[in-house]
Amino acid sequence: MKDTCIKALALNETIRVYLINNTNTVNEEIKRHNLWPSATSVLGKVTSMAQMMGLMLKGDAALTIKIAGNGSLGKVIVDCNAKGEVRGYVDHPDVNFVNNSGGLNDYYAIGTDGLIEVIKDLKMKDLFTSSVKLTGNLASDFTYYFFESEQTPSLVSLGILVNENNNCDISGGIIIQVLPNATDKEISYVESKANLLSNFSNTLKEKSFKEILKMLFADNFEILEENEVCFKCNCSKETFSRSLLTLGSKTLTEIKNEDHQIEAVCHYCNNKYQFSENEIQALIDEALKQGK
Ligand SMILES: [Zn+2]
Repeated sequence: MKDTCIKALALNETIRVYLINNTNTVNEEIKRHNLWPSATSVLGKVTSMAQMMGLMLKGDAALTIKIAGNGSLGKVIVDCNAKGEVRGYVDHPDVNFVNNSGGLNDYYAIGTDGLIEVIKDLKMKDLFTSSVKLTGNLASDFTYYFFESEQTPSLVSLGILVNENNNCDISGGIIIQVLPNATDKEISYVESKANLLSNFSNTLKEKSFKEILKMLFADNFEILEENEVCFKCNCSKETFSRSLLTLGSKTLTEIKNEDHQIEAVCHYCNNKYQFSENEIQALIDEALKQGK
């Protein structure tokens, strides 16, 4: 089954819902980055957020979620475009914390005392950056983000299950947003359903998107869009050539004479690109031509 994200309206178009199952995307991240379970839990949840928020964008806009707490994972960086094509990494993938009940403990992995930053590239002159304080609970931190930065009261729930073989059994999430035309009646209705979202990984495992919407809104909903989403990195040897060129001919000559080769690694997808001595010489020639 492909990973999908839907957008729906509910309660007579006063409520907007994003719902995602991105289990394959998260398994791809585990494979590429050798993630340990707590790293999977955090990167997977941030990936779910990025893909759902990506689908709030239009055209060739894109966003980056950057989280820098004081936990063992270090930084968490996830990029996503408006098609739900996502890529991301954590600084230290070999992290695992299990709590007393046997569940994964995001709080220690991600830490506190930092920020969740959302950087939007709407293909305008400047990037739009907004941030909220990190408390170590991603769902409530993003709930606060929507309220504070986008003035949209929201409910966020994220779920992920990692099995003993270190594969992701299920990953996904839901964002329920109150639109400006909602009244107190719809707001309290949504609040009354919040407890149904508490164990979201199990809900996602047992129910289809339609069944989840039915559980929340009976028949008062309409699915507007269904989109395939996936892991995708846009790096290439060409993009790495361009960044190597910026080192300039002098540094490139030093590397050529000392190391005779370059191996460039993409942080986002872990793809490796090799540059031979001849290819480095070609870069040096090009740099000289550009006067660098
Ligand atoms: Zn890459």
